[in-house]
Amino acid sequence: MTEKQASQEIVIGIDLGTTNSLAAIVGKDGPRILHQRDGEALIPSVVSFLDDGSHIVGEKARHRAVTHPRHTVHSVKRLMGQNIDEVKQRESDRLGYQVVQAKDSLLARIDIDGKLYTPQEISAMILGEVRRTAEEALGKPVKSAVITVPAYFDDAQRQATRDAAKIAGLQALRIVNEPTAAALAYGLDTSREGTVVVYDLGGGTFDVSVLKITQGVYKVSATAGNTHLGGDDFDMLIVDFILDAVKEHIASDATIPPEAMQQIRLSAEQLKQQLSASETAALEIDLDLEEPVHFTLSRADFETAIRPLIDETLACCHSALTDAGIQPEAVDEVVMVGGSTRIPLVRQLVEKDLGRKLHVELDPDRVVALGASIQADILSGGTKDLLLLDVIPLSLGIETVGGAFSKLVTRNSTVPARATEMFSTSVDDQTSIEINVFQGERELVRDCRQLGAFKLRGIPPMPAGLPRVEVTFLVDADGVLTVTSREQRSEVEASIEVVPSHGLTRDEVKDIIRNSIKMARDDFLARDLVELRNKANNLATGTRRVLAMPEMPFTDEQRQDLETDLAHLDSLAKGEDIAELRAKCDAFGEKTQALADQAIGEAIKAELNREQSKLPSSPQQP
Ligand code: AMP
Repeated sequence: MTEKQASQEIVIGIDLGTTNSLAAIVGKDGPRILHQRDGEALIPSVVSFLDDGSHIVGEKARHRAVTHPRHTVHSVKRLMGQNIDEVKQRESDRLGYQVVQAKDSLLARIDIDGKLYTPQEISAMILGEVRRTAEEALGKPVKSAVITVPAYFDDAQRQATRDAAKIAGLQALRIVNEPTAAALAYGLDTSREGTVVVYDLGGGTFDVSVLKITQGVYKVSATAGNTHLGGDDFDMLIVDFILDAVKEHIASDATIPPEAMQQIRLSAEQLKQQLSASETAALEIDLDLEEPVHFTLSRADFETAIRPLIDETLACCHSALTDAGIQPEAVDEVVMVGGSTRIPLVRQLVEKDLGRKLHVELDPDRVVALGASIQADILSGGTKDLLLLDVIPLSLGIETVGGAFSKLVTRNSTVPARATEMFSTSVDDQTSIEINVFQGERELVRDCRQLGAFKLRGIPPMPAGLPRVEVTFLVDADGVLTVTSREQRSEVEASIEVVPSHGLTRDEVKDIIRNSIKMARDDFLARDLVELRNKANNLATGTRRVLAMPEMPFTDEQRQDLETDLAHLDSLAKGEDIAELRAKCDAFGEKTQALADQAIGEAIKAELNREQSKLPSSPQQP
């Protein structure tokens, strides 16, 4: 694409939220939100299916949730790139619709009267609505967007978001972390350097991220949060107060009908929002009793009730800061995101706790979309002096012989990242190699997560260890991984773009890292054993090859001696005794080295000493 074409393209920023979604664009006067025809900016991220199979999106769909819960899909973002077990564990009965397992994988699907939808398809319906809104507001077609995701989204969840955009006919030019977008919206960019805490308390989730900005480069240093803590929980605390009041007016065994419960929930949310502006709030609840129940709540009582939940968010902030290795005093800026940060107590406590004046000037529901539009503007050729970088949450690498995990790109590398390493074959005349790509922090692939596999075919038959297989990992700015392998002598090449089969939650990433620390010693020993076994096998193969050469001037006695050594080496390599195997490898290595020096030319010496990391032989190999 030429610079000119790029500068003409319309690129919008989209905040694809769990509860609401919205779009923004940078115009002549700076970033602005794109409104729907009725003036509303927020599009509820809800899709409802009608009897004729068609669907509606947004506010109308949200209203249908009460009457048609099984046909109305909300919070689909929680299902993106997730397998069914993860969803069942975390969401269990919170979703009114049915979530089932896909036929051909472990992934979660949404079941509407027997028709299965992927979370990507449902998200695409929401994105389609956002796109239509933007096109109406701009009077022009929109084909490209920058879409935000939580900082803890892994490769699978980001890829699912990208796929959703594709289904909606949008090219996701960039997937940007929500906290990074929020910081961008506040212009905390090139002019400042330092640490930014982004505190995001929405309707259903709480996220805190620690960003480091250096010379215009944003890096997410740590994230923490709770996927089930937010404004909805505050609503439920008020519902409890209301129910206590209602119970004084009805018989003790009377039950409250579901519609009335839903009404109470909505009223509770209204009360909560009023309490952000006034000291008390009141409402009348009509339960078809003689007279409506009058209910009043003071801000003080509300604050006492929600205080433990806010304290929990503060604890998360400190844990993120600890993870990032930052003292609270070293925080430069605090950005508030999400509707629930309008609650005065939330602001007070965060401000006091972090000791910084908060950024609350922008609408906390819109700040992420505004930031996304700034990134969109950068990509469409507007602003040029800003670079966004994120980090890779878990190390990436491949399986080598014996099941060892060879890491090419380590955890916390900034993206885009590139790494190349040289490998070789482990079996003579191996004409194809399977490259198994893994993600994780442990030493053996059995303890890591497989991301994908592909085959490099057409290698000319050569002795084991001779092919030079170059493996390159490239993680692009969106975190998409491309693995390429190339045999240098024959120039055959193969590659894959990794689309991981299921996602990991932030807690799982944490667990993986924690486990790698806990298991470090065991892993080290297991890896040591694998490497020693490989060394023993290499030594044995090389020696046997040399022994088989007719021109070798070995005496019968020397041959017999080497055969005895080889048998001993083989049996030790099958066992578990690391110390003995190491001693034998060292001794035998010295012995063959001496033999090589004595009797053989350079090429054969190399044969005995070849020590390149070897790839596992392909299972299809004859
Ligand atoms: P978000 O997920 O960021 O859209 O935030 C939605 C949450 O913010 C919901 O729980 C809303 O009830 C809550 N919210 C919106 N406005 C206010 C307000 N003025 N005071 C308290 N909570 C609010």
